[in-house]
Amino acid sequence: MKHKLKDKIFEYIANGAEQIGQETYVIGGYVRDLFLNRRSKDIDIVTLGSGIELAEHIARNLKPRPNVTVFKNFGTAQLKYRNFEIEFVGARKESYRSDSRKPIVENGTLEDDQNRRDFTINALALSLNKENFGELSDPFNGLKDMEEKIIRTPLDPNITFSDDPLRMMRAIRFSTQLDFEIEATTLQAIAANRDRIKIVSSERIADELNKIMMAKKPSVGFKLLDETGLLNIIFPELQQMKGVDIVKGTGHKDNFYHTLEVLDRIVPHTDNLWLRWSALLHDIAKPATKKFIEGQGWTFHAHNFVGVKMIPKIFRRLKLPLNEKMKYVQKMVKLHMRPIVLSEEEVSDSAVRRLLFEAGDDIDDLMTLCEADITSKNPEKVKRYMKNFKIVRRKLREIEEKDAIRNFQPPISGELIMEKFGLSPSREVGLIKDAIKEAILDGEIRNNYDEAFAFMLKKAEELGLTPVY
Ligand code: ATP
Repeated sequence: MKHKLKDKIFEYIANGAEQIGQETYVIGGYVRDLFLNRRSKDIDIVTLGSGIELAEHIARNLKPRPNVTVFKNFGTAQLKYRNFEIEFVGARKESYRSDSRKPIVENGTLEDDQNRRDFTINALALSLNKENFGELSDPFNGLKDMEEKIIRTPLDPNITFSDDPLRMMRAIRFSTQLDFEIEATTLQAIAANRDRIKIVSSERIADELNKIMMAKKPSVGFKLLDETGLLNIIFPELQQMKGVDIVKGTGHKDNFYHTLEVLDRIVPHTDNLWLRWSALLHDIAKPATKKFIEGQGWTFHAHNFVGVKMIPKIFRRLKLPLNEKMKYVQKMVKLHMRPIVLSEEEVSDSAVRRLLFEAGDDIDDLMTLCEADITSKNPEKVKRYMKNFKIVRRKLREIEEKDAIRNFQPPISGELIMEKFGLSPSREVGLIKDAIKEAILDGEIRNNYDEAFAFMLKKAEELGLTPVY
């Protein structure tokens, strides 16, 4: 079977390879995606000889001439041409030691190179050689697996996964992204080799988790992680959410499956990875706060606040960013029950104003999270919540238009208070500033200078202060 490989870049690569007399192929993810009609910008080129020399030779003939980045230690070279990132490597044979996922590498044939690939669908190669340009090499029936939507390792899966346990995460990630099934013995081998994941760096694990999170249905990946026992090793907090306790005939919902449902539900509404993480973590402290209280049933008191405290440990372990991204997730987790509570009561202006003040510009994301959180099977209940959320959203808009609370800046500064009453930095200044803020949030005064100034005078008088001018 031949593929046309229409893009000009393949002609350029083929010409360069011919000129230096090196057999060359395009291999791996790019070829897979070509057959799956997915767009891919990463092209992997494998050549029988030096990948670096081939890249440098090709770059010399391209206009404009691209820079070649050489990774001497890995024997690879990379160049960017138009939208493409093209990586060149000499065909290699790999062997592994038990304590590392970094292989010992020797030069090899195309076949050796295909043998070291993780899955049959990732081992396809198309020839870039003049005599059979575009011809498919598919030693493990990857094309058939692609048609049947199957993830399978080319060689014995136990060896494949034990050699490089990152492949276990990759199998689950591809299954989630492509909606493919992991073939039974491959899946069993993941479960059998799960402990080997411990030699994989957290960064690489988090990378795969993030790709799972960005898929159309992330729950698929998390269920597979659970099923294979990987979840318990890499993310025990999630695993602990699984299960239902029953006391006196009363059970609570399974928070693991609920969480996955919320995560899937938020996907169509956001591409923001961190909002998706917020969905994954919103109930993370439910196991830690779970209590059965007579007459009340199951409670998860303050699970949002406890969740906020758990997040840094999880982010640190997974080497996720400990910066404003994490703070954003913490904020979402902290506030995730507020709109629901609001919608259960008569929605008062001051409660809405306070929520707006705390959420700031992230209020829309918070509402998106809360709407995804409604997973009740009772249609009446869902209808009621959704209707109330509409009211909350409307109120949020009205109040924002009126009071501009989103990016609240105090209308009266501490300096002005000090100047007006001849104060140095002191408790009184804080008290007055706070009282102004509270009065605005309660709707007692509006968020403008004049009303805040008048309120300041009144408050200062109560504190026994008199203006100095
Ligand atoms: P994506 O771009 O979505 O991550 P990909 O398959 O293109 O998917 P890369 O990480 O760019 O992923 O890898 C390119 C190719 O290199 C793969 O298609 C596969 O053939 C091979 N490969 C990558 N990682 C491994 C691995 N850990 N073990 C074996 N082969 C691998």
